[in-house]
Amino acid sequence: MPRYLITNTRLFNGDTVISDSTNILIENGRIAQISETQPPTLPPETITIDGSGKTLIPGLIDAHVHAFREELFLKRAIKYGVTTVLDMHNEPTWFRYLKNIADERDDVADIRSACHAATVKDGWPATLVRVTAKDDSIEELIGKWPDLTRPEAAEEYVTTTIDSGASYIKLFLESGEGFDMPFPVRPLPTPTAEVQKAVVQAAHKYDKITVAHAVDLKSTKQALAVGVDGLSHSCAESIDQECIDAFKRNNAFVISTLTVHASGSGEEQESREWFSRNLPDDEKEKLSSCLKFTHPPILMKNACETIRKLKDAGIDIVCGTDSSLPFPGLLSGVSLHHELWLCVNRCGLTPLEALRSATGITSRRMQIPDRGIIKEGMPADIVLVNGDPTRNIEALDEIVGVWRNGEKFG
Ligand SMILES: [Zn+2]
Repeated sequence: MPRYLITNTRLFNGDTVISDSTNILIENGRIAQISETQPPTLPPETITIDGSGKTLIPGLIDAHVHAFREELFLKRAIKYGVTTVLDMHNEPTWFRYLKNIADERDDVADIRSACHAATVKDGWPATLVRVTAKDDSIEELIGKWPDLTRPEAAEEYVTTTIDSGASYIKLFLESGEGFDMPFPVRPLPTPTAEVQKAVVQAAHKYDKITVAHAVDLKSTKQALAVGVDGLSHSCAESIDQECIDAFKRNNAFVISTLTVHASGSGEEQESREWFSRNLPDDEKEKLSSCLKFTHPPILMKNACETIRKLKDAGIDIVCGTDSSLPFPGLLSGVSLHHELWLCVNRCGLTPLEALRSATGITSRRMQIPDRGIIKEGMPADIVLVNGDPTRNIEALDEIVGVWRNGEKFG
């Protein structure tokens, strides 16, 4: 494995800018040394990279994706410096297939998953999948999803899900009310509050955090009332003080997903097109189109206001997109750059705060202590960028190199 020395670079460690002139030695896949002075002697064959005028940041984390079984998803992610993706509902067999690839190879992003999220028969996301899927084989899949109707079943669901590889537990609380889709019933069925509470308690018993899907205000408050640790979407309806207080009471975090809200409501066409400008034609078409399946009050501009208010209240913001291969308006990797840009330009985060939300804060809140941080001894999942993304988020556009486990990609 090659040894790298990156010299005289600005270092953002996932929390703060350590120094404008740091030397970082990468050895055996790890950050071996961080110092202001260059190591006096270096073993031969060390590859030296001049980092002046550049910034080294931790590999970015997209905290909300659906990678399904697409290796391409992980390949696209790492091209944009996204070295870890957090899957928020997937087939355990598909997740394990991808995890094996990620464990064996360093030219793809790493992946963690919630595996099957907690839901009920004919609830979300089965109804969404039925409306959008093109073939009947989908029923076989949906038939395997949890149908949690009794609180007594929660613990078995949690242990089975952890055994199938889940790193955290996800709950679906979606009424479907904000969606322009031909659902057979409204509101859609969801697990009852008693079941939700039992799932959260069981997850905590086994040291796993819980995140809940909710996009409207009522469901967001409901999720917080049963004690979830985080929301997997920013509420896309105007939030009130009661909701902010509930976030504070739980010390809950929020995963932004502004890019999916923008695609859902059809907002932000201009910025989607800007982020797709250099892509090959098929990718450009996917990123510059949109879902347009929600209606007011479910709007991206409300989701931005939520992030702004929660940030002002001191709530942790975690960056995530909800990228998946089928969803238009989103593309793995580049959409996280778009997400960070929206956090800065639409929600008032500073570039430094936005970067924290895709690195150090995610590491802490999603319980992945070996990711999103640069310090000695950590796996070398790092990104070298031209310029200073801690002051100008658009600098992420110029990635010089991406390392995963000390192997340089690109
Ligand atoms: Zn999702």
